[in-house]
Amino acid sequence: MLIWRVKKVVYLKTEEEIELIRESSLLVGKTLAEVARIIEPGVNTLVLDSIAEEFIRDNGGVPGFKGLYDFPNTLCISINSQVVHGIPSIEPLKNGDIVSVDCGVLMNGFYGDVAYTFEVGEVSKEIRRLLDTTKQCLQAGISAAVAGNRTGDIGNAVQKLAEDNGYSVVRELVGHGLGKKLHEDPQVPNYGRRGQGPKLKEGLVIAIEPMINMGKRHVRQDEDGWAIVTKDGLPSAHFEHDVVVRKGSAEILSTHDFVEEVLKNKNK
Ligand code: MG
Ligand code: MG
Repeated sequence: MLIWRVKKVVYLKTEEEIELIRESSLLVGKTLAEVARIIEPGVNTLVLDSIAEEFIRDNGGVPGFKGLYDFPNTLCISINSQVVHGIPSIEPLKNGDIVSVDCGVLMNGFYGDVAYTFEVGEVSKEIRRLLDTTKQCLQAGISAAVAGNRTGDIGNAVQKLAEDNGYSVVRELVGHGLGKKLHEDPQVPNYGRRGQGPKLKEGLVIAIEPMINMGKRHVRQDEDGWAIVTKDGLPSAHFEHDVVVRKGSAEILSTHDFVEEVLKNKNK
């Protein structure tokens, strides 16, 4: 999500509310698995979008992004140098592309919000390393999402791992609180200093979503008015989980397991 300027209220969730967010998040994870089944060279991303929308509605949810901020589709589909907020199109995917698929669901009044970057056909070793590292950055961020820590601890963990691997972190876009609104306070940057930023309290639900660039960190808005793209044209990767802050360690509400199960069977 792009950084917002107005400070809002931070809502801590009850266990009942956390369960509803978990259900919405799991539906997103299953929707991404439907995308995983059919993503391959030659497929256009509007097809992925319509399959996702149908699956969400068949399972009692509503696409969380469609119509929000006037976004026209169910999925944000961002290819190669597109970081996030790409709009689905009739352009077919090519062998070697990477595709961030970001999906939201609204169900029972609560949002889930999950992203996964897919490989299309065979990708280069360099790109696979970017994807692996971005996934590890997500895990590092989650590990820091502990009660008593601050948002800066999450950002610092993500940034350190990314930069130690020679990559850079997008700063104009952030993770966020999640609940009755898709984007709630606090903002959760993927860079920062330890011990800085809003304090993380038990029951806070946040979406952590590192966007890691192979080249420089700078981004710009694409001519289409939606996609955010890297200025240097190099690829960018994006993974997202929804977590609830607890004592000792965060609890992950969403899952990539459905996706990875499909991918594993596809590659057999
Ligand atoms: Mg998302
Ligand atoms: Mg998000």
